[in-house]
Amino acid sequence: MRKKTKFIHGGISRDPYTGAVSTPIYQVSTYKQDGVGNFKYEYSRTGNPTRESLEKLIADIEGGSRGFAFGSGMAAITAVIQLFSAGDHIIATDDVYGGTFRVMTKVLNRFHIEVTFVDTSDLEKVKEAIKPNTKAIYVETPTNPLLKITDLKAIGELSKEKGLKFIVDNTFSTPYWQNPIKLGADIVLHSATKYLGGHSDVVAGLVVVNDEALGNDLHFVQNSTGGILGPQDSWLLIRGIKTLGIRMEEIEQNTLEVVKFLQKHSAVQKIYYPGLAEHPGHEIHKSQSEGFGGMISFTVESEEKALDVVKKVHYFTLAESLGAVESLISVPPLMTHASIPRERRHELGIEDGLIRISVGIEDIEDLLEDLEAALQ
Ligand SMILES: *Cc1c(COP(=O)(O)O)cnc(C)c1O
Repeated sequence: MRKKTKFIHGGISRDPYTGAVSTPIYQVSTYKQDGVGNFKYEYSRTGNPTRESLEKLIADIEGGSRGFAFGSGMAAITAVIQLFSAGDHIIATDDVYGGTFRVMTKVLNRFHIEVTFVDTSDLEKVKEAIKPNTKAIYVETPTNPLLKITDLKAIGELSKEKGLKFIVDNTFSTPYWQNPIKLGADIVLHSATKYLGGHSDVVAGLVVVNDEALGNDLHFVQNSTGGILGPQDSWLLIRGIKTLGIRMEEIEQNTLEVVKFLQKHSAVQKIYYPGLAEHPGHEIHKSQSEGFGGMISFTVESEEKALDVVKKVHYFTLAESLGAVESLISVPPLMTHASIPRERRHELGIEDGLIRISVGIEDIEDLLEDLEAALQ
């Protein structure tokens, strides 16, 4: 089965009990047993047919052995880190999603899971950070907001050689463009709130693992800690995933046009987009991903100018989040990255006039006219 077909016919596809073409929403907490211990489903935290349909689907499209659905991306990330124990050490990408940084440094540290943040686009720095108690490498590529690229195959090989679990947050690329399990990842996770849902109407997290033992361990954590996704939201995600292929194709075309427009505009200084030949991770990204995605960051001369631009746009909605049919715009230094001190932001390369856009599937002419008017 090819990619776009898999989004529609992968997983369980149709309801085995009724033949319904759309997986029904099994809005139920418990199930009648035909005698003690004789049941197909026991209790909906442990298993629910709608959630199971989604979990089989994401496992299928990421090329893994088992999938899991959680109430948010953060619940998914927390459950994955809970596979580890006090005293374990994890190496993570230094510009991971802000919420990931927060849960690792302010919550999971209390349980003595230690994390070192390094620039994972530099393999030597990752090697240097490995300690006797290191158990995992946690990578995001491309990152937010500067779209830095990490070589998944190289980290996959290093992880295998050192016996470490390799975890990838694949939210930005989506399984349509990038499948980290093929490149050596053991665990792939998503904020399904973004491209997989795709319509700004559901908060969810998904995880896929590549082997049975890891699957059993993660199911144990999921069932024990309980951060599951409900049946209604599971159904919304199944519905969203059906159109992931066509949305990503359309977003890719629109994004290329927006980048071309920004390149020609005199008010735009730097552009961060992995599809540009001068982007430092361009070649590596091209080797591991079939598309460049819908995220672009660019700089204008000042914070005032950036604020002016986001005030003037109509079709680009000023909002956090990304990956929706609607185009979104944000000023990372004042929004998602405001909690990082200005000096540290500058060290990381996040300038005051940085604007981030998530390109949607509106008519490209409207998007370009909108940006032109706002940048003037
Ligand atoms: C949004 C996001 C998360 C967190 O997911 P939620 O669904 O908001 O909890 C994690 N990683 C990345 C890359 C994200 O963009």
